[in-house]
Amino acid sequence: MNDPVLVINCGSSSIKYALVPTTANQPRLTGLVERLGSSDARLKGVDSRGDVFTSDLGDVGHVQALKAILEGLEGHRPSAVGHRIVHGGERFTRATLIDDDVVAAIEQTSALAPLHNPANLQGIAATRSLFPALPQVAVFDTAFHQSLPPRAYRYALPESLYRDHGIRRYGFHGTSHACVSARADALSGLPGGGWLTAHLGNGCSTAAVWEGRSLDTSMGLTPLEGLVMGTRSGDVDPGLHAHLARHLGWSLERIDEVLNRESGLLGLSGLTNDMRELEAAADKGHAGATLAIEVFCYRIAKSLAALSCALPRLDGIVFTGGIGENSPRVRRQVVDLLPHFGVELEHNANLATVRGREARIDTQTPNRPVLWVIPTDEEGRIADETRKLLGDTPR
Ligand code: ADP
Repeated sequence: MNDPVLVINCGSSSIKYALVPTTANQPRLTGLVERLGSSDARLKGVDSRGDVFTSDLGDVGHVQALKAILEGLEGHRPSAVGHRIVHGGERFTRATLIDDDVVAAIEQTSALAPLHNPANLQGIAATRSLFPALPQVAVFDTAFHQSLPPRAYRYALPESLYRDHGIRRYGFHGTSHACVSARADALSGLPGGGWLTAHLGNGCSTAAVWEGRSLDTSMGLTPLEGLVMGTRSGDVDPGLHAHLARHLGWSLERIDEVLNRESGLLGLSGLTNDMRELEAAADKGHAGATLAIEVFCYRIAKSLAALSCALPRLDGIVFTGGIGENSPRVRRQVVDLLPHFGVELEHNANLATVRGREARIDTQTPNRPVLWVIPTDEEGRIADETRKLLGDTPR
């Protein structure tokens, strides 16, 4: 199979795509259709020369949006489609070839991801109607974390809530944690190392990976648990919901909205969820921005320290995601809180990282945990898993 794989990440109002070629030296065509469902949907993509193009699509549905995406692929035709699916519940522990039964199972899991799985399914329906002959593969955000042992995935709740309603910790960002921990193994010459991975973007999560398997992670039943994120609170006292309902009269919808969309870096700073803007404001003495970055970093360090309990041996920490890859300040503030790990940041290397490149940022002292910055490549990993499932050699 020498043809590229089309990777689709379908949201309710957007479709992100990447046409991933078989070899890394061929250009990858990427882009997104945004504002689906409105009268002014728009395709924005990058062509093989690296130039950005846009095209107004008007009032289109998912099928027409995909047709527009195909027209922007410069005549390339995919040999398979890989779909990013947010929630695979307990059934899906690996990438899976999509058929009617798999679609029904993803539908059944929608209660656990009501915002994401129905939108992912729209993408599957559209691509199946457009490419009835092409193999389609579902790659789940939760699948990599299905190796968590019960002590890590169970909440201390009545057993029936787990047994009858699937209430447990699932974890997300699995494709990213799998991708960067595998790269850390390869870069360090340590097949099956013990890694703490920190995916820090708008959504943020940590994972403990040992011998290529996730043993614990910071997100839980939903992607709200764990770290402070752009607009999500991360961990709060579980008594908070009842307190807000009783004392402020807030509805469940209001509580959900505040914790998911008005909290995190945005809520703490009162300014923005964008780390670049927060760093600039903190440099000018903005107290809210300074506090937001401090809480953000402290909670990452605390989560890494907690997750280290899952690892028989700690070989190193991997930073990834928009913030993890690009913010020397956040990396320094996190590592400064972990002297008991024996990690030593090499400050010049930390400052000199280049966007999109892998870098080692510790002092390279023997017998100390390593610090890596590794750009995540979720689309590449989804394409690789799709090829592997179809019996082809990944890139
Ligand atoms: P998403 O989770 O939506 O994919 P990204 O992984 O792109 O998000 O991460 C977005 C975050 O990365 C934003 O907070 C943005 O400010 C931050 N970021 C990007 N570049 C930098 C930079 N040079 N310095 C600090 N933060 C950055």
